[in-house]
Amino acid sequence: RIVYLNGEYLPEEEAQVSIFDRGFVMGDAVYEVTSVLGGKLLEFEGHMTRLERSLRELEMVCEISREEWLAIHRELLKRNELVDGGIYLQVTRGNAGDRDFHYPPAGTPPTVVLYTQSKPGLANDPKAEKGIRVISVPDLRWHRRDIKTVQLLYASMAKMAAEKAGKEDAWFVEDGFVTEGSSNNCYIVKDGKIITRQLSNDILHGITRASVLKMAAEAQMEVVERPFTIAEAQAADEAFYTSASAFVMPIVEVDGVELGTGKPGPVSKRLREIYLEESAKTAI
Ligand code: PMP
Repeated sequence: RIVYLNGEYLPEEEAQVSIFDRGFVMGDAVYEVTSVLGGKLLEFEGHMTRLERSLRELEMVCEISREEWLAIHRELLKRNELVDGGIYLQVTRGNAGDRDFHYPPAGTPPTVVLYTQSKPGLANDPKAEKGIRVISVPDLRWHRRDIKTVQLLYASMAKMAAEKAGKEDAWFVEDGFVTEGSSNNCYIVKDGKIITRQLSNDILHGITRASVLKMAAEAQMEVVERPFTIAEAQAADEAFYTSASAFVMPIVEVDGVELGTGKPGPVSKRLREIYLEESAKTAI
């Protein structure tokens, strides 16, 4: 695989980062994942807008323009002949010279890494046909979940807990309400209404979430933005999650309780179809 590191395209074995890099020592880094279908980037503008916001919120300086980001993404697609999969992008605060809690001096260059991940047949994931099962875990993450940092240890722990329980994913619960999934935004459907938590610093502002809610409204589906509980989810007709890499994923079980018929519901299936169709139209 050919990867991008600080202005260079290199074989992955040759791409090396300092042991003093703040991303490595402090988890001082932000990231984005842009999906690729049929060789085209999905929701590119949305991901770059969120990247710029994450950088701004952390006072991290990275002087790469939108046009340059696009050129790097395109070059990686080409060099790796990527058809279906994604491009991972990470910006760290760079090499601090030594371990120090304080940010390095202004002008310290950030570390910029991008690489492709191939997932042939990404849009035809058999899991979407069957639906997935989730467990709930307490949300023990920090309170700036709106910033897309690489501090994903608790999300990893939640996914491992789900795996140990024989399920596919975990939902985070805080003060009795679901915040989001371990790496996705979540939704329930009750009496035709789509219910999902409103945006705040408690959740990541999903790029897929924004598009799916817009498409749902355009398709005359009713959307209510408010928190919901696990009990409410268990009594719902259906549930699903959204993320850049899984699009719209039906959920058929929450903490051991089967939802509705135990199969992906009509709203989830319809939204998945609409999303795949519509996002392909704006892919670049
Ligand atoms: N919440 C969390 C915690 C996530 O990690 C992700 C995926 N990056 C999402 C939500 C979904 O965001 P997006 O639709 O932009 O992938």
